Amino acid sequence: MPRNQKIKPLPQDLPGVYTCANCSQVLFAAKYKFSVGSGFPSFWQHVKDHVKQHPLATYGRHRIQLLCSRCNQHLGHLFEDARTPTNLRYCINADALEFNQNITL
Ligand SMILES: [Zn+2]
Repeated sequence: MPRNQKIKPLPQDLPGVYTCANCSQVLFAAKYKFSVGSGFPSFWQHVKDHVKQHPLATYGRHRIQLLCSRCNQHLGHLFEDARTPTNLRYCINADALEFNQNITL
């Protein structure tokens, strides 16, 4: 997908949430998930203060690491992305998440 093209939001009534695979805290609503073809689940918004941001400076690149605020599990990284409604992209390791369709936000 070209970087200057806005992503299409999913239907806002999409049920379900993604929870931390380690402690089951709710992290992301399914309706804020999108795909950029990177192979990683991506979101443009997290739930309340359930995702912690930890600035990293590794190999000369500034990145923001994302952690579960309850158990500190590494979730992925935060990037600026002009294609999303928030101009942010949460690039998440699929193994860090579990889908729960019985919870809606
Ligand atoms: Zn957790």
